[in-house]
Amino acid sequence: MSTNGPNSDLIYKGTTVTIEIDPHAGFCFGVDRAVHLAESLLQKDSQAYCVGDIVHNQKEMDRLSQLGLTFVNHQELENQTSKKVLFRAHGEPPQSYQLANQKQHQLTDATCPVVVKLQQRVKKAWETMINLNGQVIIFGKRNHAEVLGLVGQTQNQAVVIENMNDLDAIDFSRPIEVFSQTTSSLTDYKLFCERITSKAQSTLKINDTICRQVSSREPWLKAFVITVEVMIFVGGTKSSNAKFLHGVCKSHNPDSFLVSGVDDIQMEWFAGKTRVGISGATSTPLWQLQEVAQWLHQNLNEQIKN
Ligand code: SF4
Repeated sequence: MSTNGPNSDLIYKGTTVTIEIDPHAGFCFGVDRAVHLAESLLQKDSQAYCVGDIVHNQKEMDRLSQLGLTFVNHQELENQTSKKVLFRAHGEPPQSYQLANQKQHQLTDATCPVVVKLQQRVKKAWETMINLNGQVIIFGKRNHAEVLGLVGQTQNQAVVIENMNDLDAIDFSRPIEVFSQTTSSLTDYKLFCERITSKAQSTLKINDTICRQVSSREPWLKAFVITVEVMIFVGGTKSSNAKFLHGVCKSHNPDSFLVSGVDDIQMEWFAGKTRVGISGATSTPLWQLQEVAQWLHQNLNEQIKN
């Protein structure tokens, strides 16, 4: 099965209810690439190991597990030798590469090229900051895999800022260079940058490192969600991107519901409605949106017939 699949079957017209899939939904480029790399690995070998969740989407993980992909943590990676190992799109710190090398694993590195470039920039900034007695700041979620990979470029010395409550961790009298996790909110990052600009007492360099594959979804989603009466947003419960984008939907259309699959759907959401939209997180594959659309198409039109 393809991950995102061809961009067809986006509109399901019923007798009364029309269901439309957001044309900009589906995996981001980096996740789509990682899943395809995993699939090609499993075509050559029936067993491979992925460090961490390849995507924050249980159904896609289950599909890949059935193909032979086993999800392991770093400790489990250390306990094995000479296995086929995949690093996911979020990237890994340098220590993970050393470990894979020591244990003679055959590595397929599916780190998203955008993340690889960001890791290189963070490393370079850290080398500069060491000489200036400065700090590298990462604006993002402290335990997110991408952030751990970025902090690893700085010998674990970068300061991670999740929100304004963490500002005390920054020494504003010293030079500062700032980066953002690729999936942070543009609005939150802008506010954070304004705040540190007003507090900085030494040199300050701000880098815009938010990935447009994610941030551009927000304006498209706003335009889409106001064209439908009910919005079904499909995303994994562990996906921060799903929570964020569902929040965007909800603020523009109160009848927006976050579900991980058809089992979470309640039929009373659709009473008297004729136009339903479906979208998903950057970790939700198009095939899963089509599955929900087909289920709704069948059940809503049956409900109206009865
Ligand atoms: S959100 Fe952007 S940086 Fe992150 S994996 Fe997707 S394409 Fe790559």
